[in-house]
Amino acid sequence: MSNGAPPGQAGRGPFDVAVLGGGVIGLAAAWRFALAGVTVAVVDPSPGHGASWVAAGMLAPVTEAHFGEEPLSELLLAGAAHWEDFAAELEAAADMRVGYRRCGTVVVGLDSSDRRAIDDVLAYQRSLGLDAVRLSASECRGLEPALSPGIRGGAHVPGDHQVDNRALLAALLEACRRAGVEFLARSARRILLDARGGASGAELDDESAVAAGMLVVAAGARSGSLLGHVGGSVPQVRPVKGHIVRLRGGPRAPLLSRTVRGLVQGRACYLVPRSDGSLVIGATSEERGFDGSVQVGQVFALLDDARRLVPGLDELAFEEAICGFRPATPDNAPYVGWTTTERLAVATGHYRNGILLAPITAAALVALYAGAAPPSPMGHFGAERGSHLALGARGALGEP
Ligand SMILES: Cc1cc2nc3c(=O)[nH]c(=O)nc-3n(C[C@H](O)[C@H](O)[C@H](O)COP(=O)(O)OP(=O)(O)OC[C@H]3O[C@@H](n4cnc5c(N)ncnc54)[C@H](O)[C@@H]3O)c2cc1C
Repeated sequence: MSNGAPPGQAGRGPFDVAVLGGGVIGLAAAWRFALAGVTVAVVDPSPGHGASWVAAGMLAPVTEAHFGEEPLSELLLAGAAHWEDFAAELEAAADMRVGYRRCGTVVVGLDSSDRRAIDDVLAYQRSLGLDAVRLSASECRGLEPALSPGIRGGAHVPGDHQVDNRALLAALLEACRRAGVEFLARSARRILLDARGGASGAELDDESAVAAGMLVVAAGARSGSLLGHVGGSVPQVRPVKGHIVRLRGGPRAPLLSRTVRGLVQGRACYLVPRSDGSLVIGATSEERGFDGSVQVGQVFALLDDARRLVPGLDELAFEEAICGFRPATPDNAPYVGWTTTERLAVATGHYRNGILLAPITAAALVALYAGAAPPSPMGHFGAERGSHLALGARGALGEP
């Protein structure tokens, strides 16, 4: 087999699989591929970063259930079911902790119209069979005494948990290295096609190329630019900017014991407590393209809303304000599957839930490579939503 590089171009590989993008999706997939005995390269100038580094790490199939997104809710629930085993296996493989905490979530409303809005969502969640229990204000404060006496009540969602996304990325990087994944610290410029129009590799930004039997585009919000070179219609992935603020506290007296999601005069806000006493506060949702500036007004608004729910956060130390780009799609659901270009797959568009969906996405990609069906209901998140995509039980090198 040629190395996939045009004549005169230095080549790496061939690998069985090259994953373009080493955020949580690309790393989880690479690790699972390597465990399955597949030779795999991850191409990324800065693996372990992207939106995955910025995220809050909520694993929240219930509080992420939105009106009109029933198929996505089903996927989120299936994704959550992968987490316990995935976290245990990863911790053993990397010999590192990932901060997976089955802590549950409390949802609170600041004023009476926030409370009514929460009741509406609660009714919807319960109509889907999701586990969420209405609480009075004092019941909310019974669960989380640091909540403001001013809140008007809310709900308890026992099945929405969290992982420390940064610890997760560190563990994935280590597990990948231990499993023999090769890292190429370059940007991919374009997908290379062979004489028959199938994907054979990728050109990198140092003019070299990587050759592989299966290409997986997992470049988060920037996936569209890589796919645009292939031709045909491409899945639409756009960046939705989100600001996050991180505060540092003491592990001995954590302010909160579980995630708090709140509505503050109609604005959504969440506070995710880590076991080291730190607090992750999020998040804005902004359609501003790839504008990476951290804006004072957005940071101020987040902190202002958060302290109206939990006034005690004034005592914590400011650590970081950061923003990232959620990879969003027209229907808010991911694209995971084969494209119509032979040997080219995508795993992108995970929008608000890429951390939650990383384990099931990785399992789906390994199944695709092997020519097997992806875990249910991942099979619904490909072909029918874009003519460029065709998810199905087809092996990397053709029909099984
Ligand atoms: C503020 C905020 C809060 C969030 N909170 C949560 C949450 O609580 N729970 C949850 O489940 N999800 C959350 N998300 C969503 C989640 O972060 C994303 O869905 C997920 O990180 C997407 O992962 P990814 O690997 O597809 O993309 P990314 O993490 O963005 O990684 C993409 C990678 O591709 C690389 N790359 C880009 N272009 C190229 C190229 N040309 N060649 C090679 N590599 C390239 C980048 O360097 C990057 O490392 C949040 C997102 C944001 C922004």
